[in-house]
This record gives sequence, C-alpha cells and structure tokens, in this order.
Amino acid sequence: MSERRFFTEKSNIIGGHVFLMGDEHRHLSIVLRLRQGDNVVVCDGTGKEYNAVVSKIEKSRTLLDIVSEEYTNSEPRLNVTLYQGLVKGEKMDFIIQKATELGVTKIVPFTSKYTVAENSLSKNDRFYKIALSAAKQSRRAIIPEISEVQNFDDLLKFVKNNKNVILAYENENANTLKQALTNIKSKVVTLIVGSEGGFSTEEVEELMSVGAVSVKLGKRILRAETAAISILACTMFDLNEWE
Ligand code: SAM
Repeated sequence: MSERRFFTEKSNIIGGHVFLMGDEHRHLSIVLRLRQGDNVVVCDGTGKEYNAVVSKIEKSRTLLDIVSEEYTNSEPRLNVTLYQGLVKGEKMDFIIQKATELGVTKIVPFTSKYTVAENSLSKNDRFYKIALSAAKQSRRAIIPEISEVQNFDDLLKFVKNNKNVILAYENENANTLKQALTNIKSKVVTLIVGSEGGFSTEEVEELMSVGAVSVKLGKRILRAETAAISILACTMFDLNEWE
C-alpha cells in the first residue's frame, strides 16, 4: 500500500529503530491515523527500504521498530535529468508528478526568453510535496530532486559541461530521438523541453553550439507537458528501462 510508504533521512534510522518527524510524522499519526502495531514501509532516500512497525506515537515524532530491510528495485539504472522550461500553474505540477512516476532523477525548472509563467520561490516547497507524493504512489526508493528555478545562462553552462544532452525542438528536421539515444553510451542523460512559448532561434543555436543534440518529437506541435512526458517515456523505453 503506497499510502503507508514514508521517507526519512538516513540519520533518523538508528539501531533497529526509525524516527519520523515533521510532515511524515503528521501524515502517519493525523492523516492516516495509524496506531501502535501498524505496519509501514520507510525509505531512506538511498534505495533502501525498511519494513517497520509503529512502536510509539509522540507529540512531535513517531518511533518505529524495523522488522526487515531490503533494496528497492523500482529505481531505473538510467539517471535522467529533465530541464523543463517553467510552465504556468498546474501544468508544472503535472510534469513533476508524471516525470517522477516515469523514473526521472532530477528536474530543473528554468526560465528562457519566451517564459510566461511567473517565477516565485514559493513554488519549490509545492514542487517537493508533489514529487514526494508521486514517489510514494509509484513506490520509488528516492524522491527526485527538484532544483531551484534556473535561468537560460545556467542551462547553457550545464550543457557546455555535460554530455548526452537532448533538446526537444519542433523545428528540427534531421535528428530523431531514436538516433540521439543510439549514440548515448552512458547511463546519464539530460532532456531539455521548452515552456509554452518554446525557445527563440538564438537560444536553440546557443544550446546546440555547446553540444545539445536537437530532436523532433513527430510532426505536430506538442504542449510542453506532453513533450516532457513523451520524451521521458520514450527515453526510458528505448534505453530498456521498461523490461
Ligand atoms: N514553439 C512552439 C509553437 O510553435 O507553438 C511552442 C513550444 S511547445 C508548446 C513547448 C516545447 O515542447 C517546445 O519548446 C519543445 O521543447 C517541445 N515540443 C513541442 N512539440 C515538439 C515537437 N514536435 N518536436 C520536438 N519538441 C517539441
């Protein structure tokens, strides 16, 4: 049962016991109203999960006794980072939720010339909660990292210093995603998808000049959220993460 799945820092796992504090303690004791003797699964965010029994519920923390531990095999071998042009409102929430289910490792929201969504710091806490909830529901061992919103120069610097960067670009006429993935020899891939307004020609040229490979996702213009989910799903499938 994914709703009885909790995440805690490794440091909260001490000598056969687990401590849950903060939101996770409140979720267990108030939202789910679990009680002493109830079974839960606790993930330490490194790939390990612990079958545990609620032993004591205090005001500000829950103490659990570990019954057994195992490595979760729900994590992909592929380390995929999605650089996602900031999109408005719930569309970003949707992308974070679906990308988490699909196995993304990190999401980096960024702004570019045609970004229309407002960039406010308050987003990050909400984004984290969406990733946490999706990680629980999809029984992941880790919660994908959602970084602070970056700007186009940060994106350019990242592309310059990293390999295996694929840019989804609707005006690309030669490269296909299949070809781009065939050339990937490592297990670390970065996918870039634009915001509702897409990229300027100059931005695309700059990204390609520092090593990004642009690919077409079919002959139709996809919404940003469709493109993000599609390119991630196709990458996972093509690189054998769906076996
Ligand atoms: N330039 C688009 C237009 O003419 O309406 C607006 C951008 S589109 C809504 C959002 C993003 O999805 C694009 O920046 C691109 O990254 C991706 N995208 C959409 N359709 C695509 C396609 N057919 N091939 C590759 N990428 C696509």
